[in-house]
Amino acid sequence: MVDRLANSEANMRRINLVENCFGTAGQPLAIPGRVLIGEGVLTKLCRKKPKARQFFLFNDILVYGNIVIQKKKYNKQHIIPLENVTIDSMQDEGELRNGWLIKTPTKSFAVYAATATEKSEWMSHINKCVYDLISKSGKTPNSEHAAVWIPDSEATICMRCQKVKFTPVSRRHHCRKCGFVICGPCSEKKFLLPSQSSKPVRVCDFCYDVLSVGELTASQPGSSDLFCQSPKSTNNLSDDDDDDDDSSD
Ligand SMILES: [Zn+2]
Ligand SMILES: [Zn+2]
Repeated sequence: MVDRLANSEANMRRINLVENCFGTAGQPLAIPGRVLIGEGVLTKLCRKKPKARQFFLFNDILVYGNIVIQKKKYNKQHIIPLENVTIDSMQDEGELRNGWLIKTPTKSFAVYAATATEKSEWMSHINKCVYDLISKSGKTPNSEHAAVWIPDSEATICMRCQKVKFTPVSRRHHCRKCGFVICGPCSEKKFLLPSQSSKPVRVCDFCYDVLSVGELTASQPGSSDLFCQSPKSTNNLSDDDDDDDDSSD
C-alpha cells in the first residue's frame, strides 16, 4: 500500500502542500520514497502549558509545527526521524486525555489526541512506520531516550531539595537526565549526554553523581575531562531550559 502510494501524484501533491504551508523556513520534505501517512492537530505538552500543534506523519519522519493559520500556514518546524522513536501510551488523568509519549534520543514529550480512536490510530500508524523502517534497515532500535520534562506548573518547589520555592527570581530549571524541575543550586553541574548535545548539559546533583559513578566504572581514570563542573550562568534570563517551540503566542 505504502509502496504504491510512494510514486503516486496525489502523494507528491500532498507533500508539496505541506512544504508550502511551512514556507521558506521549513526543510524540503519531498524526497523519493517518502509518503505522507496522515496529519492532524495534537495537543503537545510544552514546558509552560499544553499547546495545539499540527503534526504530519510520514513513513520515515514525524513533522510538527505551530499553527499560524489552520491548514494554510505553519511555522517552527520540527522534524523527528522515526527510526529512533519509541511511543508509550499514557493513562488518562485529569483534563488531559488520550495521550502518549513520543520518546527520542534528543527530546521526549507527551501529546494528546481529541478522541481515543484518534489516539489509537496515531499510535498504530507510528508503530507501523517505525517497525517497517527498522526491519528495512536491519538496525537495532535506540533504547536510550531523553527524559520527558515535567511541566513547570507541576512543581512549586524544587523536586530535589524540596526546599527552594520557585519565584520570578529563583527560576525553574530542568535536569536533562531525569526531567525533574529543580532549583539553580541543585543543578549547578553539567554532564555530557552525547545523545542530547555535543556540549555538557544541565543535570541535577543526584543524576550528576549517578552519571559520574557510571563514567568512572566505564572508563579509565584520567578521562574525567568528559564533564565539567559548576558553570555560573544561572542569572541569565535566556537560560537554555526554554522549550524551543514554546512561543508566547
Ligand atoms: Zn533544589
Ligand atoms: Zn536529574
